[in-house]
Amino acid sequence: MRFATKAVHVGSETDQDAAGSVNAPISYSVTFDQNRQKEKFEYSRTANPTRLALERNLAALEEGRHALAFASGLAAETTLMTVLKAGDHVVCMDDVYGGTYRLFTQVFADYGMKFSFVDARDLVAVKKAITPSTKMLWLESPSNPLMKIVDLKALAELANSAGILSVVDNTFASPALQNPLKLGIDIVVHSTTKYLGGHSDILGGAIVTSRDEVHERLRFSQNALGGVPSPMDCFLTLRGIKTLAVRMERHCLNAKRIAEFLNSHPAVKTVLYPGLPGHPGHELAKRQMRDFGGMLSFELKDPAMAVKVLERVKVIIRGESLGAVESLIEHPASMTHASIPKPQREAGGVTDGLLRISAGIEDGEDLIVDLREALVSR
Ligand SMILES: *Cc1c(COP(=O)(O)O)cnc(C)c1O
Repeated sequence: MRFATKAVHVGSETDQDAAGSVNAPISYSVTFDQNRQKEKFEYSRTANPTRLALERNLAALEEGRHALAFASGLAAETTLMTVLKAGDHVVCMDDVYGGTYRLFTQVFADYGMKFSFVDARDLVAVKKAITPSTKMLWLESPSNPLMKIVDLKALAELANSAGILSVVDNTFASPALQNPLKLGIDIVVHSTTKYLGGHSDILGGAIVTSRDEVHERLRFSQNALGGVPSPMDCFLTLRGIKTLAVRMERHCLNAKRIAEFLNSHPAVKTVLYPGLPGHPGHELAKRQMRDFGGMLSFELKDPAMAVKVLERVKVIIRGESLGAVESLIEHPASMTHASIPKPQREAGGVTDGLLRISAGIEDGEDLIVDLREALVSR
């Protein structure tokens, strides 16, 4: 089956209940009658039928053998870190989701894990950062919010030859546009809150891998730590996924249109969108992604204008998060990336004049009109 077909069908097969329901039944049962069951279920933290339907779907979408679903992206990340121990070292991409940075530096660092942050576009720098205690390489592409594209295939090979696990946070691209496991990456992590759920109405996370031993360890940790999603959230995520392929086409179309508009706007200094031919990762993105995605960032010539733009937008919503049907705009320096110390944030390129847009699925013309009016020099 091809992607859009799997998105609609896997996990929702009609032989799951006596009625032939076309949707996975929402199984609100914490325990199960072990005398009267065809499949073995014991307790819903360990396994739940609706969650299992979602996990099967997620594995299929990422072309992995196993998937685990969680209550949030960060619950997935927290669980994933249990493959490591105190003293282990992680080489992490410098431009990562703010919450990932916070989790590593303000939680796991206190438990004896070590983290180095490097620009993973530079393979030599990544190689140099790997020490004998390095156990994991953590990547994001496109990255958040600077839209850096890193060579997943080359980095997977590098990690593999160093004998360390490679992880990609694939939230920004979604499995509709990029499948890191097919490029040799060991583990994919998602915030399903974003494109997979797609409607800003659930929090969720996922881990997908084809490595049996990694999966077994993480399945144990999923149950032991308990950060699992509710059956209703699993159902809503599955429902969102059914339209992922068509939504993503519009997300990409609108993002490209906005990027081109901003690129020729006199108030804009730079536009960061891998779909623009001038983007340093354009050719690489063409190779490893099926389209360029719905996310873009741009820097204003006058940093003071950023707040004004946020206050003036009417259709585009000023808010955090991304990947949903409604377009969102945010200011990384004061919102999503506020947990990164200012000198480090600015040195990395997350300046006060930077704005990030998640292009929704509205009519693109309304989004352009909204931005044009928000960018007037008043
Ligand atoms: C939102 C996000 C997360 C965290 O996910 P939650 O569902 O909010 O816990 C992790 N990585 C990326 C890239 C994200 O955008």
